[in-house]
Amino acid sequence: MSTNGKETAKLFGVKIDKVDFEEAYMRFDGYMRQDETKMIFTPNAEIIMKAQDDPEFKTVLNKGDLVIPDGIGIVIASKIHHLGLKERVTGIDMMERILEYCNRSKSSIFIFGGKPGVAETAVQNIEDKFSNIKIKGVLDGYYDEKDELKILDRINEEKPDVLFVALGAPKQEKWIEKHQKFLNVKVAMGVGGAVDVYAGVAKRAPLIMRKLGLEWLYRLVKEPSRFGRMLVLPKFLLKVIFSKPSPQK
Ligand code: UDP
Repeated sequence: MSTNGKETAKLFGVKIDKVDFEEAYMRFDGYMRQDETKMIFTPNAEIIMKAQDDPEFKTVLNKGDLVIPDGIGIVIASKIHHLGLKERVTGIDMMERILEYCNRSKSSIFIFGGKPGVAETAVQNIEDKFSNIKIKGVLDGYYDEKDELKILDRINEEKPDVLFVALGAPKQEKWIEKHQKFLNVKVAMGVGGAVDVYAGVAKRAPLIMRKLGLEWLYRLVKEPSRFGRMLVLPKFLLKVIFSKPSPQK
C-alpha cells in the first residue's frame, strides 16, 4: 500500500511504514527541514494489541507521519503475513540517532514525560553526552489534566525542534495527536520508557540479546512485574499465526 507515495503495510489495522533504519532516519531528516509538526510513533506487538481494543488509539496511530516497526514480534508477523517490513527499527535507537543529529546541528529538544526526578536526570545525562544539544525544557509526565493547556503553552514558548513525549502508550500517542495542530515543533515523537533508559533507571539488553531479538526476555528478567503485561506477546503471536495473511488488513 502507498500513502503519499510512501510504502506502508497494515498489521491488524495499524499502518506501519516499510522503512529500514536509514530510511526512517532520512524521513526524520526531511521533517527537520520543514515547519509542520510531524508525528513519529513506534508500535511494538503490545501496542498493536492495545490498538485492537481501542479504536481511537488505532486511528491515532494511523495518522502518524512515520510509524516504525519497533520489536521482533512485528518483524515475525511481517514474515508470516508477507507484509514486506524490512527490519526492526526501535524507538530508542531512533531517539539516540535523533539526539546525535540535534547535537551535530545544534538543534533543540524538549522532554515531556517520565516520573518527577527521572525526567530531569535523563535530561542531565543527555546534556552530558550531547553537549551541543539545546535542551529547551523538561516536564514530568504526572500532571493534572486541567494543566494540559499550560503544558502546551510552555512547550510552545520554548519552540523546541524536537519534542519527545514519554507518557507510555497509548497516552503519549493520543497526547501528540490531540495537540499536533497547536504544537510549535517540527517533530513530536512518542518514546515510552526511553526516558527511564536515559536516566539510568532502566537498562537496555546487551547488544547480543538485542541482535537476537531477545530484548523482551531481558526486560522480563530485569522487571518480573512486567510478566502480566508481557502475556500479550504470546497472544499476539497466536493471533498472527491463526489469522489470514493479508497485506491490506
Ligand atoms: N509515564 C508518564 N505518565 C504517565 C504514565 C507513564 O510519564 O501517566 C511514563 C513512565 O514514568 C515511563 C514512561 O511513561 O517513564 C513509559 O512507561 P512504560 O514503561 O509503560 O512504556 P514502554 O517503554 O513500555 O512503552
